[in-house]
Amino acid sequence: MESINYKNITADPANLPVFAEKKITVEVLRLDNIHPFISGNKWFKLRHYLDSAREENKNHIITFGGAWSNHLLATAAACQLHQFQSSGIVRGEKPATPSPTLIQVQKMGMQIFFTDRPQYHEKIVPQEVDQTNAYIIPEGGYGINGAAGAKEILDHCEKEKYTHILCAVGTGTMIAGLVNTAMPHQTITGVSVLKGNHELEANIRALLLTDRSNFSLVHDYHFGGYAKYNDTLINFMNDWYRQTGIPSDFVYTAKLFYAVVHLSGLNYFPAGSRVLLIHSGGLQGNASLSKGTLIF
Ligand SMILES: *Cc1c(COP(=O)(O)O)cnc(C)c1O
Repeated sequence: MESINYKNITADPANLPVFAEKKITVEVLRLDNIHPFISGNKWFKLRHYLDSAREENKNHIITFGGAWSNHLLATAAACQLHQFQSSGIVRGEKPATPSPTLIQVQKMGMQIFFTDRPQYHEKIVPQEVDQTNAYIIPEGGYGINGAAGAKEILDHCEKEKYTHILCAVGTGTMIAGLVNTAMPHQTITGVSVLKGNHELEANIRALLLTDRSNFSLVHDYHFGGYAKYNDTLINFMNDWYRQTGIPSDFVYTAKLFYAVVHLSGLNYFPAGSRVLLIHSGGLQGNASLSKGTLIF
């Protein structure tokens, strides 16, 4: 398993006519390029959990995710890289044909266990999983350790030059880390990919180091809910790729990029704004779309 390549993190320009018209610059921080499996924000969120597990002399990582989970895949790969045994608790009944993600995690040594949705919801570890010497990482890496890692994301760019930083938001761990490290003149905006996630703000605040309020959340770009999409989103992903050369995934980053284009049309960013978008990875999930849907 190859190690993490921080050198691959670049801030790539996204030069769309609407951005020029509104006199703003937009760059995309390419965390998607750090590793083929441990992509995007997931490595940052995992690293301190793995350190804690090591400090506690635990050699087995247990975590949770769906059949296409970027978090499960990243955890499986990180565990292989750092010599931990790994178990993945997967939401739902065992499917007739496992997703490519689940095939891949097993290739990397993760043992997987399916749980029905009510049990999954309670984050119950099935009895058959041996929990001796085990360390549990919460679903999506949500928690203080996850946010502490996400705080390091902006160390990989010229952070002070941006006026606005935006990211896609699932559990809120990444944005909490960004808010914790942002400078007073910067606005952090999170684009929620879940429909009507009313606990989100409280979940983020629970991870903040100080009582900061220089962040906001937008809830209007979920396209029907988590992992939902339509032709508008797919066409947007192809257009965005044609214009910027930057691929996106339909669960997270496409909704972020779509939101940014839409918000700039609404003059959300004052002229002169320097906007940074976090490309949090997750491209592997596009394999669930039928072939030919995307041009990349
Ligand atoms: C997991 C994930 C997110 C969400 O991160 P949170 O810290 O859970 O908010 C965003 N983008 C991608 C590509 C992800 O895989």
